Amino acid sequence: MSGDPAELIAGVPSRLLIGGTWTDAAQGRTFAVENPATARKIASVADADASDASAALDAAVAAADHWAATPPRQRAEILRTAFDLLQDRRDDFALLMTLEMGKPLAESDAEVTYGGEFLRWFSEEAVRITGRYGVNPEGTGRTIVTRHPVGPCYLITPWNFPLAMATRKIAPALAAGCTVVVKPAELTPLTTLYLAQLMIDAGVPDGVLNVITTSAAKQTSASILTDPRLRKLSFTGSTPVGISLLKQAADQVLRTSMELGGNAPFLVFDDADLDEAVAGAMLAKFRNMGEACTAANRFLVQESVTEKFARRMADRAQELKVGDGTEPETRIGPLIEAKAIRKVQDLVNDARTRGARVVTGGETLDRAGYFYQPTVLRDVPAEAHLTSTEIFGPVVAITPFSDEDEAVRLANDTPYGLVSYVYTKSLARGQRMMERLETGMMGLNTGVISNA
Ligand code: ADP
Repeated sequence: MSGDPAELIAGVPSRLLIGGTWTDAAQGRTFAVENPATARKIASVADADASDASAALDAAVAAADHWAATPPRQRAEILRTAFDLLQDRRDDFALLMTLEMGKPLAESDAEVTYGGEFLRWFSEEAVRITGRYGVNPEGTGRTIVTRHPVGPCYLITPWNFPLAMATRKIAPALAAGCTVVVKPAELTPLTTLYLAQLMIDAGVPDGVLNVITTSAAKQTSASILTDPRLRKLSFTGSTPVGISLLKQAADQVLRTSMELGGNAPFLVFDDADLDEAVAGAMLAKFRNMGEACTAANRFLVQESVTEKFARRMADRAQELKVGDGTEPETRIGPLIEAKAIRKVQDLVNDARTRGARVVTGGETLDRAGYFYQPTVLRDVPAEAHLTSTEIFGPVVAITPFSDEDEAVRLANDTPYGLVSYVYTKSLARGQRMMERLETGMMGLNTGVISNA
């Protein structure tokens, strides 16, 4: 809890966790972890290959029966202890996430709260494993449905929420009595390694939680995914990788849970409270530098309020202090890597050449690290690439609409269906939008909807 980055990182495990033992990669290789705010290396971690992945699965298989037979109350207590330990180590986890991922400290702290909630929620769910009792249609028999742990699970997490994406997969699996192999993103492995240490301290038995870090996600994962002892795959990440994993999972008829990309529309109707809409839009867009699958990607704003909305968003965007997330006044940290900056710049340039107007921003920052100016674009035409691509950056793209039917048509004009946001004072319209927008979640007059 010293707050000193070097001291903190020195205390974070850098090896693989296999069967309860911190282990070097079989080939002895390591790879570097960088701080995106400085583009400097901050740590090296073990670089697992296929044989390490198989060893991790061996450990998960060996621990599976005993963990499945461990009383739910005991599993619950371990998860609850992990939740409590996380509160004690809050500042360290927050700083670690800022160092390896870039988000401002206040947002890292909020992620400790959000990520911790999965530990608490699933500690509570662990003791509520229910089934069903029914009568068969003929009336001649009774049907009993019971739930069982599926067995060893492989959990692949992304870099944008290094703690929360790990707890939200690990906690439910452990609560249900499953053992796991976790593979964090190569860009942000430290938080998961630190979490694994915390889970051991909380009493997770050897082999129940295994962690492999690797710079070769595809090859290393393949050895686990083709192993018939694996029972489930859970993945959060990009749609193309998800598609490739679903194809591999099909060969083993694996159970899968996939959380892939998003392209959230953010609708502002002319009857909305504009102050609230702007406040919600700031959160839905700039939280995590826009690097979230739930980030608002397309702002659809009714013509009569477009001018006002764009101006206010630009004013607010200009006030956002861009910088190293460890500095307390920073509101926008760096993007994750150089490639991300190039992608955002290409999308903005493309929108410009197709007629979008830059109200503010639109450039990278001339300094070390991967910084991009908070940007507001208006009059973005439907054919601009950023309307069909996940921007994953701090860019507000505004397109006007004339009436509700046009808003719905534009909002639904995407193959993605993760989330949408709607600002209106009309309850009747809010309810209509719930029916008409083809997204799994809809935020009504709110810019943040993620919770356990
Ligand atoms: P992003 O584009 O946001 O970086 P990715 O889908 O590339 O998202 O990465 C999400 C996670 O998937 C990371 O842990 C990454 O290492 C992993 N990953 C990427 N490609 C593969 C693959 N072919 N097989 C298994 N895991 C992969």
